[in-house]
Amino acid sequence: MNDVDVVVVGAGIAGLSAARALTAAGKTVTVLEARDRVAGRTFGGFLSNGVPVELGGQWVGPTQDAVLELIDELGLETFPTYAEGDGVMAYGGDVVRYDDPTYGLPSSSVAEVARLWMMIEELASTINITAPWETENADELDRSTLDQWLTSNTADPTALQFFRLQVPALFSAEAAELSLLHFLFYIKSGTSLQVLVDVEGGAQERRVVGGTHQLSERMAAELGERVRLETVVHTITQDDSGVVAAYEGGEVSAGYAVIALPPTLAGRLHYSPPLPASRDSLTQQMPAGSVIKFHIAYAEPFWRHEGLSGAAFSLDDAFNVVFDNSPPDASCGILVGFLEGIHARRAASLDADERRELVLSALVKYFGPKAANPFDLVQQDWNAEEFTRGCYGGRLGAGAWTSYGPALAAPVGRLHWAGAETSEVWNGYMDGAVRSGRRAAHEILTQLD
Ligand SMILES: Cc1cc2nc3c(=O)[nH]c(=O)nc-3n(C[C@H](O)[C@H](O)[C@H](O)COP(=O)(O)OP(=O)(O)OC[C@H]3O[C@@H](n4cnc5c(N)ncnc54)[C@H](O)[C@@H]3O)c2cc1C
Repeated sequence: MNDVDVVVVGAGIAGLSAARALTAAGKTVTVLEARDRVAGRTFGGFLSNGVPVELGGQWVGPTQDAVLELIDELGLETFPTYAEGDGVMAYGGDVVRYDDPTYGLPSSSVAEVARLWMMIEELASTINITAPWETENADELDRSTLDQWLTSNTADPTALQFFRLQVPALFSAEAAELSLLHFLFYIKSGTSLQVLVDVEGGAQERRVVGGTHQLSERMAAELGERVRLETVVHTITQDDSGVVAAYEGGEVSAGYAVIALPPTLAGRLHYSPPLPASRDSLTQQMPAGSVIKFHIAYAEPFWRHEGLSGAAFSLDDAFNVVFDNSPPDASCGILVGFLEGIHARRAASLDADERRELVLSALVKYFGPKAANPFDLVQQDWNAEEFTRGCYGGRLGAGAWTSYGPALAAPVGRLHWAGAETSEVWNGYMDGAVRSGRRAAHEILTQLD
């Protein structure tokens, strides 16, 4: 007799969404979570003045119907990201203000960026997001890295730099680290490149009042004692009668398991019998990106008084993506920004003061001397987190989708895979995490019933 119907490994949004769906269907569930908190890659922090900030995932937007529905069900509210006023773009040693979709780039490069952008949207529309490896010319698209495609399709260095900036902003990884097929899949999975990068009408449109970690906290509160913290699962055993998830000092037996971990971490568990080679290889081929997220807090959002939206991008600097992240009542001014991809890896060896210096010197360049004196600066390095090891999520490099793609979400016996990386819609996002948990729960319910 098993302890429960289903054991869920990982209490991020995906694992808790699975547990919630299974519980609602009358099944018994235990959720095992390594950390002393739930919410995984969404993590609530506080500034020294008590204002909450999101150290991980934060924005939601249109077409993210699953997470928007969950926000509503859990009694949470959203508010719009501040986006009034001019943006700032730094390139070629200059800092330019812009108030249109040109990002302030020189007109020759604007036309080239628009041409490449349209090519990308058209190519993305051809992708089969349910089975990317079955897209008509999947082999060809998967053979090329995104960077190879960009360099062979433009001779404009500024346009090239612009896309080399956008890619880490979406993946925390460089264009050379993604296959073209993965990039195009991700775009279609999130509706379009325009929707992925936009604030109004896009993925950065809204935030959750009080922070996104509350999604997990409220789901965990509903699940009560079914969720066990500080329980690091190390071994998964399965046979004809069920599954056993073992951790130091104990184990839980169940009919089925949902493994709701990022693929890299799922691959580090010990499985008996061993996983099929294709599934193990998939986890070896899906590393996470690198990101250090910063919140820089001021007494007021001074840039707003100067007609600036707080959005800043740079083709010249390491700290090159910034947004206004002030609380809804603007009781203080907060800028949020990222070191991503190669810049995050380089900055990982700096100490906190050196990173602070790097960030503030970039902000002074974008917003003037007032940016030099924040009352607080909070930084979060996601690669240093033992139970995440990189963000925003896993990516596939050249050749991986067509070699191992079918193993990404296909159950292995009684093991079902969840997590944002396994979702065909809004892959890599909180919305994808919700969908993946519900999908894994549905797969198991079909078996149980
Ligand atoms: C800086 C940053 C910014 C982001 N921005 C956005 C955004 O604006 N919008 C958006 O939609 N998404 C964003 N994301 C992505 C989003 O946060 C993730 O897609 C989502 O939270 C993933 O949820 P998950 O449940 O799939 O995985 P996780 O949240 O990674 O959950 C996995 C859980 O498993 C636990 N675990 C790990 N190993 C074990 C083990 N051995 N035993 C037991 N438990 C274990 C972990 O502690 C964790 O709680 C961002 C992420 C980061 C880091």
